[in-house]
Amino acid sequence: MNPQKKLHDWYLLHKRDLPFRKKKQAYPIWISEVMLQQTRVTAMLPLFEVFLERFPNPESLAKASEEEVLSYWKGLGYYSRARNIRKAAIQLVNQYNGAFPKDLEMVLKLPGIGNYTARAILSIAYDLPFAVLDGNVKRVLSRYFGYTKNILGPQADKELQNKADEFLNIEFPGDHNQAVMELGAIICLPETPKCLVCPLMEGCFARIHGKTKEIPIREKNQKQVDLIGEIWVIEKDQNYLLIKETKNRFLKGMFHLPYGFIGELPNEEYKPSEFQTFIRSEWKENQSIGKFKHTITHHRLEYYVHHVILKDTKKIESVLESFQMDSKWVKRAELESEFPSSLAKKVKKFLLY
Ligand code: SF4
Repeated sequence: MNPQKKLHDWYLLHKRDLPFRKKKQAYPIWISEVMLQQTRVTAMLPLFEVFLERFPNPESLAKASEEEVLSYWKGLGYYSRARNIRKAAIQLVNQYNGAFPKDLEMVLKLPGIGNYTARAILSIAYDLPFAVLDGNVKRVLSRYFGYTKNILGPQADKELQNKADEFLNIEFPGDHNQAVMELGAIICLPETPKCLVCPLMEGCFARIHGKTKEIPIREKNQKQVDLIGEIWVIEKDQNYLLIKETKNRFLKGMFHLPYGFIGELPNEEYKPSEFQTFIRSEWKENQSIGKFKHTITHHRLEYYVHHVILKDTKKIESVLESFQMDSKWVKRAELESEFPSSLAKKVKKFLLY
């Protein structure tokens, strides 16, 4: 029996009962794939179900405001994904009548959809012959084929994509892709692969040569960035100021508590905006009420929380107006829903009333 057939038989017996796999529909498959990019299945499932209940199709998503879509993304992080999903839904409705195109190039033109997601949607929803490549697939294929170069190297994605294409079961491309990902998630584990129960064990290079600990080779060259930040709770009558900035390094385009970075900055991307500079000059004497650590991708951040209580909002309102910034005042109880980021939760702990 060929390895693809063994893998397929194994998958049909062992696949997890996941709601987004029940129907071969492009829309829920797309949403689930985007949510799963940075989130574990168990953490994503409850949020996925609530999201689909509120936005059951591209039409409902396209009609919703960005704020509302972001609020349903709370807990998943990496909010640019939610913004792109909404933008892509608008395009689907305007250009394709709400249906997902079946052409790889067309799908790749939708905002936020990269090679992996496009191939996953087309193969799983429409059984089109596109092999996917994600972290799990890279590990399985590197071990199975004995790929002994750095999987983070410049050629790795192209070379491993060729291997994935070669390995694809063209009779069942959707099942095959899910099978390889599932194998990586539950059998071909990073530290302790369960080779003895693996359907690919017979032909697997890493198992045969005792190299499962060495392969895949991952040599990172992305440097960790350490930053010191300030985050500002600007309050008037127990309402807090949220702003929207379009050029910030983080939280782009969403309402958030004003923040900025201080000290030595790695490059221009992190430099303070005009509004952040105004806040610092206005309340530089302000003592911080605490600090906390936060991580975003390869950034290690330490945020000082500053709390300013205003008697009136005239000056700040006129500054906001002069910078043409979107802003709003929200109540404490609304802070986390209006600023849907784990930062809001961390800051709230310092507000003692
Ligand atoms: S035999 Fe072991 S190393 Fe090879 S694919 Fe299976 S679990 Fe991974």
